[in-house]
Amino acid sequence: KLYNQVQDLKGNIRVYCRVRPSLGGRLDSQSVVDNIEEGMITINTPAKYGKGCRSFNFNKVFGPSATQAEVFADTRPLIRSVLDGYNVCIFAYGQTGSGKTHTMTGPKDLTENSQGVNYRALSDLFFLAEQRKDTLQYDVSVQMIEIYNEQVRDLLVTEGLNKRYPFLFALQFSSYASLVHVTSMYDVIDLMNLGHRNRAVGATALNDRSSRSHSCLTVHVQGRDLTSGAVLRGCMHLVDLAGSERVDKSEVAGDRLKEAQHINKSLSALGDVISSLAQKNAHVPYRNSKLTQLLQDSLGGQAKTLMFVHISPELNAVGETLSTLKFAERVA
Ligand code: ADP
Ligand code: MG
Repeated sequence: KLYNQVQDLKGNIRVYCRVRPSLGGRLDSQSVVDNIEEGMITINTPAKYGKGCRSFNFNKVFGPSATQAEVFADTRPLIRSVLDGYNVCIFAYGQTGSGKTHTMTGPKDLTENSQGVNYRALSDLFFLAEQRKDTLQYDVSVQMIEIYNEQVRDLLVTEGLNKRYPFLFALQFSSYASLVHVTSMYDVIDLMNLGHRNRAVGATALNDRSSRSHSCLTVHVQGRDLTSGAVLRGCMHLVDLAGSERVDKSEVAGDRLKEAQHINKSLSALGDVISSLAQKNAHVPYRNSKLTQLLQDSLGGQAKTLMFVHISPELNAVGETLSTLKFAERVA
């Protein structure tokens, strides 16, 4: 009860923490997670970080055994909101290897059970739209972009792709990339596959760009009331953020340093925007990064935000784990 009141005071921002399982087979696979309770996670910090236990509070904490279905269950109400005409942003934050893509998309050998938030959100959306079809007629379109070094790249481009612009959005976002009309989950899966293929282009094994760029699947929904003719619009951004790990400036140079600086800048800009929204500040610094500029219409106001913060349980990642949790605590 108190929980909900706190939630109301803070507006529409929720932060969930997810700990991935130990990947095993490693000497350091001993977990630094001391305890998980409803909304609290306690980390056993080694001497280097001030020996002892440190606890962090979130709206919810998912432990290593949480299933994809359990993780999605609390996201469901947001999908309903999109169909009701609200804007929604869902972010996956965390260091490379902590499970962001697992949460949003799923593992490489995808099965129905292991499908991530993106698939589940879209299939729920179609399901709910179908349920309402006697009163509302919905149109759904998707976009997929990547932001790398503050540059936006359209991921849904291919020769012969039937680009359609079924309706014009007031959103500035729409002008950045192809908007493709979809009528079923199959259409969406095809487009997501195309987006993933396009994303891989130019990335080599040594230079896995996916961990150093943000990717965003955006779903635009327009609903027309069949009796009154009134139209409502909502959109949902599903964002797999670039890895949050800090790079050692003494060890990298050139392109790698530039990438790192862009990532740092945009993740801290996102943190600044969300924390100023949570504190209800009069000024919200949207203009400090491409990501926050693009998402401006969907962050703040009536819009709803959910951030999944990911951590790795291994001892060798504890430095990044602590900085991830501190970042998240600031926005939670
Ligand atoms: P990131 O996108 O943050 O770099 P990934 O999602 O690629 O991390 O996860 C790294 C590895 O850990 C992958 O092999 C992934 O399948 C696995 N993994 C991550 N989270 C989980 C989880 N909750 N359950 C099982 N495996 C996971
Ligand atoms: Mg990833």
